[in-house]
Amino acid sequence: MIKKVKNPAVTASRFLLIPKPLPDEILSSWLARTAYAHLTHPKTFMNMHFSTGKFNWRPNFDASVSDDVLRIIERKSTLSFETIYQMSLKSYESYLQESIIPDGLNTFIVPQRFCPVCLREDQFPYYRKSWKVLFTTVCFRHHCYLYDHCPSCGALLKLANMYRNTLPFVFCHKCGFDLRKARKLTVPKTLDLAFKRMQRIRSILKRGYLVLNKIPIYSFLFFEVFVQLAKLMLAYKKNDSIDHQPKIKNFAKRTRFTKTQPVIRELSIPQQFIVLSAIMELFRHYPKKFDRFLKANALTHWLLTRDLKEIAFWYENLLNKVAPQTCFTSDLLTLQEIQNAAKWLTTQGLILNKIILKKLFQCDFYHNKLGANIGLKKKII
Ligand SMILES: [Zn+2]
Ligand SMILES: [Zn+2]
Repeated sequence: MIKKVKNPAVTASRFLLIPKPLPDEILSSWLARTAYAHLTHPKTFMNMHFSTGKFNWRPNFDASVSDDVLRIIERKSTLSFETIYQMSLKSYESYLQESIIPDGLNTFIVPQRFCPVCLREDQFPYYRKSWKVLFTTVCFRHHCYLYDHCPSCGALLKLANMYRNTLPFVFCHKCGFDLRKARKLTVPKTLDLAFKRMQRIRSILKRGYLVLNKIPIYSFLFFEVFVQLAKLMLAYKKNDSIDHQPKIKNFAKRTRFTKTQPVIRELSIPQQFIVLSAIMELFRHYPKKFDRFLKANALTHWLLTRDLKEIAFWYENLLNKVAPQTCFTSDLLTLQEIQNAAKWLTTQGLILNKIILKKLFQCDFYHNKLGANIGLKKKII
């Protein structure tokens, strides 16, 4: 492979050979194949075609590529802008996430995954865009789990790198292992139902919406809630009355969770498959199953929403139905509100104490400072 050359004439020229983009191919895969066709290392190829500093093969290249760069590729390849844009992860905007963050962590975009059987069977092996999505844990064609690292050395895939600058991306860039030879990790028959739920998630992402109780909901607003529910099941161990309960209890016990990324990303791909399946199942017989999950785990409105930046309207509606909003800390109440409640209780002939106030305001009064002002402290039963 030709490496480390710079030729200004090439910067102004078009690509000489233009491979046809394959179904669901991700942009970095197509660019690497284009470079291979020119017998050039992908990094050298792009350095030759772009002026210095214009092109960057960083790990999140497919999410961060600018429209400017896409337009240059359009000119050089004669493919339409739309075709090139669709190969980038920006095309998931408003489907997977409201917006794809160019610099930073995209919750639902993961390191490049792959199905070894697909790579084996491809006439021209290539990497799929959908293999970059957290929700794609299995290959629907081969009924097996995907890999997100080289099974031989554990390295993450880097499509622009080549092992010893010679082997293409079907070989691990670090150890040279032929990724097509990775063992097929078949999804057990017992998990057929979970497999179907993954298909459902895939079709929601493709369509961009789902319908719950006759109300259409944008897919990205639906997916936002998955992170929160996974966190509840795993980090807070709120995992009673869910599908795959023993397995998920086990993951919650054995996994060490960090605060640097969403909990679900800390799991292995087969574990993510199980958790996603359990979450999807909560929305069957809507809202009955979800309601059962809430009650079994004594989940409050606050716990269900605490880490969401914004609460989607559909989710707020669901929670209002099954877990009406309560005031989670009585410190948010004013003295006036407590005094009024106290007056009302007296007129009703009821004893004023923290237990009754807790029922009335639906919040914990044990650490409330204002209560002391009306003599509440003395009257704890
Ligand atoms: Zn496959
Ligand atoms: Zn390797």
